[in-house]
Amino acid sequence: MKRRPIVAGNWKMHKTNLEARKLTQAIVKALGKVRGVDVVIAPAFTALETVGKGLEKSSVSLAAQNCHWDPQGAYTGEVSLSMIKALGAEYVIVGHSERRKYFADTDEIVAKKAEAAFRNSLTPIVCIGETLEERDADQTSAVVERQLQIGLGLIPAESAASLIIAYEPVWAIGTGRNATPAQAQEVHAFIRKYLEKKWSKETAENIRIQYGGSVKVENARQLFSQRDVDGFLIGGASLDAVGFSTIVKDVMQLARQNKPKESLCTSSC
Ligand code: PEP
Repeated sequence: MKRRPIVAGNWKMHKTNLEARKLTQAIVKALGKVRGVDVVIAPAFTALETVGKGLEKSSVSLAAQNCHWDPQGAYTGEVSLSMIKALGAEYVIVGHSERRKYFADTDEIVAKKAEAAFRNSLTPIVCIGETLEERDADQTSAVVERQLQIGLGLIPAESAASLIIAYEPVWAIGTGRNATPAQAQEVHAFIRKYLEKKWSKETAENIRIQYGGSVKVENARQLFSQRDVDGFLIGGASLDAVGFSTIVKDVMQLARQNKPKESLCTSSC
């Protein structure tokens, strides 16, 4: 099974509308023609429309960084999926560790958001990952399994194959300390096994699993060469047009080589 790679940039709470427009132009220019890789940008809500317009003539897709699961209602400060979709977004990030840590998003909330995304014809990027304490206590598999079991619990089987999962060890996010390729592969393989048990081998082989956590030009090729790493969710490095587009181009080039993933980096990384 050859999964189409997907590289997404999460701009978090950065960039005013005007700054977002400039960064979008710079990214589109630096990327040039993109083939064989899905590229996604997730700006703040305030810049969704501007960035969406800037991407109109490109092959880059738009994502929101969060959503509410209800169609509408008295939820001050929240944004619904139909509002996001109306601005052209095709993806929505749910369960990012910063949402879990600072805004109390639980696995149950993640499940509601992921289900609602599919119901509104958006693709959820479901983020999971352990903290450093959990890794040090040998709890990585247990934590990831719990996040998958509850967080994917409401997704209908017929939508599952198009789901995107982002494995983002919390200790690697914004710290400059990325997981090693072997550490990433170990957890990605565990996730895929879980998906196989939950749905089927075919579904599990279709689901794309991104790695996230201090991805940069220097480590992207080696991480992508791992069998179960299907692309990236990138925070800090996605704010730099040249760095972000270099990572996309590296992924594009490695994916084009059409070799077994494990052999990709022996000569070219
Ligand atoms: C993220 O925000 O999902 C992320 C992985 O951030 P960074 O790349 O900066 O570690």
